[in-house]
Amino acid sequence: MTQIRDSIELDFCDVLFQPKRTTLNSRQEANVIREYKFKYYPHKIVSCGIMAANMATTGTFEINDVLQKHQAITCLHKHYDFGNKENFDYISQNFNKEESCHNSYTFITTGLRDDKEKLFSLLSNENFKIDKLCIDIANGYIPKLADFVKNVREKFPNLLIMVGNVVTGDMTQDLILSGADIVKVGIGPGSVCTTRKLTGVGRPQLSAILECADAAHGLSGLVCADGGCTCAGDVAKAFGAGADFVMIGGMFAGTDEAAGELIEKTIQTCNLEEVSGEMRLLNKIEKYKQFYGMSSQLAQEKHFGGMACYRASEGKVVEVAYRGSIENVIQEILGGIRSTMSYIGARKLKDIPKCTTFYRVNRQLNEVFGKS
Ligand code: 5GP
Repeated sequence: MTQIRDSIELDFCDVLFQPKRTTLNSRQEANVIREYKFKYYPHKIVSCGIMAANMATTGTFEINDVLQKHQAITCLHKHYDFGNKENFDYISQNFNKEESCHNSYTFITTGLRDDKEKLFSLLSNENFKIDKLCIDIANGYIPKLADFVKNVREKFPNLLIMVGNVVTGDMTQDLILSGADIVKVGIGPGSVCTTRKLTGVGRPQLSAILECADAAHGLSGLVCADGGCTCAGDVAKAFGAGADFVMIGGMFAGTDEAAGELIEKTIQTCNLEEVSGEMRLLNKIEKYKQFYGMSSQLAQEKHFGGMACYRASEGKVVEVAYRGSIENVIQEILGGIRSTMSYIGARKLKDIPKCTTFYRVNRQLNEVFGKS
């Protein structure tokens, strides 16, 4: 018989943090940098836990250049060909300093349909300075994924492996036991994702994080909350629910460093001249950047030469407001998290869940008078 789980399932917009008595006098006392230890990867990393999504638009070298200065991570998209000397050299030049690649903030990405031999030979190449791999497929429940993770872990015991995506504790644990250090959580919350519409499958992201983080932490694994963050407060809530890392696409997509066409639109506005009292038409230029889902028809055409006939598009194309340098966005996010921490009394990033009590609410924002 069909079963219904009628426990309450929550999204970021369904909760707000309860402020608490705190020992912090200022947000400057909040430390957003955390040391991470892993189940399999033998090195520690020190990071703010924010990751740029491995999408063609946000998993770029340009985003990596800026984010690494903030100890934030970039998951490069899988369409970079490292057989190409320029791409290969970027990686060697970026990390071939005194520090080793363990300190780098960069992952490469693979799917299950990609060339396994090519991937393994790249990861075995001593001159290739990345030891972090994101294995990303839309449906993390297929058995081939866990088998692949086992295979990669066996071949590369010292690789940092992140795998996804899932939304339940059982599969999070399966992937960790198969060899994943980090499990990526999120089916359907992404800003350009249409999976929920097309398939009816998904889970509200906050509840998914709560369950998967609990399941992962019991096995010394970690989770990355992937998708659905629309503002700094959502990123803080993801950490509050227990995420160790938070992956962001849309919030980074309107920046200079993101790939994607810059679109300029001339908008006519009506203005009242103060002196003459006449109405005048003014031209205003609004800037946008194109952002597309990795399963959208556009992505399939751009990167795979068309959509296979057995697939349907599970992503869309949108125009996001242009936001200047990604520097502004990452500063805003880190500033927001510091402020959350000072409200709830968390001195360290890792303490956020311990200090979190959420109110369940039916309205998160109070934007009543027009848009800003
Ligand atoms: P955002 O931060 O934009 O809300 O979410 C980014 C995440 O959306 C990505 O990391 C990825 O997991 C997911 N995503 C990206 N493209 C697509 C797509 O075309 N379809 C689906 N279902 N998810 C996507």
